[in-house]
Amino acid sequence: MRHFPIFVALEDRNVVVSGGGDAALAKLRLLLRTKAAITVYAPDPAPDIIDWADAGCLTLVPRRLRAGDVHGAVLFYAADEDAAEDARTAAIANREGALVNIVDNLNDSAFITPAIVDRDPVTVAIGTEGAAPVLARAIKAELEARLPSTLGLLARIGQSFRHLADALPLGRARRDFWSDYYFKTGPRAAHDGADALRPALDALLNDHLSRKPRDGHVSFVGAGPGAPDLLTLRARRLLDEADVVIHDRLVPQAILDLARREAVMIDAGKQGFGPAMSQTEINALIVAHVAKGAQVVRLKSGDPTVFGRLDEELDAVTTAGHSYDIVPGLTAASAAVAAIGQSLTRRGRNASVRFLTGHDMQGFADHDWAALSRPGEVAGVYMGRKAARFIQGRMLMHGAARATPVTLVENASRPDQRIIATTLARMADDVAKAAPHGPVLTLMGLAPRAAAATLSDTREPRQEAY
Ligand code: SAH
Repeated sequence: MRHFPIFVALEDRNVVVSGGGDAALAKLRLLLRTKAAITVYAPDPAPDIIDWADAGCLTLVPRRLRAGDVHGAVLFYAADEDAAEDARTAAIANREGALVNIVDNLNDSAFITPAIVDRDPVTVAIGTEGAAPVLARAIKAELEARLPSTLGLLARIGQSFRHLADALPLGRARRDFWSDYYFKTGPRAAHDGADALRPALDALLNDHLSRKPRDGHVSFVGAGPGAPDLLTLRARRLLDEADVVIHDRLVPQAILDLARREAVMIDAGKQGFGPAMSQTEINALIVAHVAKGAQVVRLKSGDPTVFGRLDEELDAVTTAGHSYDIVPGLTAASAAVAAIGQSLTRRGRNASVRFLTGHDMQGFADHDWAALSRPGEVAGVYMGRKAARFIQGRMLMHGAARATPVTLVENASRPDQRIIATTLARMADDVAKAAPHGPVLTLMGLAPRAAAATLSDTREPRQEAY
């Protein structure tokens, strides 16, 4: 983040604009929505600026900006649309201590003006650090359409009601009340006009004051393979409502960012090095938060039921007598196989598919190698990076063809996704060479679609259907 977004208090503070053309007009239209004391320096001001000055909305000084003009101003806009003049006025403003924006000159500006969605007092500012103004405008248009025009009204009336809502206990009860107001009762009442809002708020508060506190609950939620838009809608909603999120190391920040800002975020990631939280500690942590009445999201990468030690946590929760639910997620094998344009099962090739772990509590995991080595078998190996040579040795020993296709997908579904296509004979060496850092899903018996034809010599699919 090269620019840090903040909201600047401008009421009765001085803002100076140099320039009287289109660039100045664009900035002034935004500035006039604030309560700033605006002064414009322009020898040749546009008619709108003269009108605003006549109406007392701003002060117009019909000459070029001079040293001393920016003293005491918080913000300064160099908007003369002339590089030399902008540099001159910006130098003055810099010396006189204002934050300077030079219109259309990102590099020499101390701040930039975002695209703004105005539902005063709710303001959404959109910035792309100058990289994609078109994108900012598109996001703005989308938000303009999505945010009801009554939002400002709701917020203003809600604000004046805040101290009354303080009668509700801090935390969930109060949050539930406000979310009810902003997203259900409020918009409905606002439809009938501002006068309907206040009584609706009173009734809503009474209703919430008479409610019993919610019991604690834990949702075991699958976060999917990493791409935020591969989350389920239910996962998204639960993240939005959670009091506490206990997550694995593999869950990327972009997904954690979807949780409520006030939610307690706990990283239960079992790091390879350094202090790791033991399974017993994680179980105890979940139970402790649920017992306090929290809505807990236990966020696991992929699907929580696949190599996620779900049962141990479920046992702890049910033993303690708490309620839970499980929200499935997209498992890494699904994302990996999609990345290579193949399917996990195929008529005439394999009527079953196995998910294996490369290692278990004892070390490298043992499997039914004879079955896995049969032609046409497909398996997704989780946590298999270090076990590559072991798996390769076992399968060759059990008669698997050396040319059996093997594809490793690192960081499946993420921007840094990498596909490493190899064969059983070469897999251990190719994994060592590729030295992946991210999570890897190994697909045994599958080649990326484009290369499938050249590797299919030993695995001509049988034609009969099953
Ligand atoms: N519950 C998870 C698996 C947890 S075990 C799921 O259903 O996907 C952790 C292993 O999952 C990693 O070692 C790796 O093999 C695999 N994995 C998880 N996310 C992955 C991703 N984005 N790309 C490739 N493999 C991934």
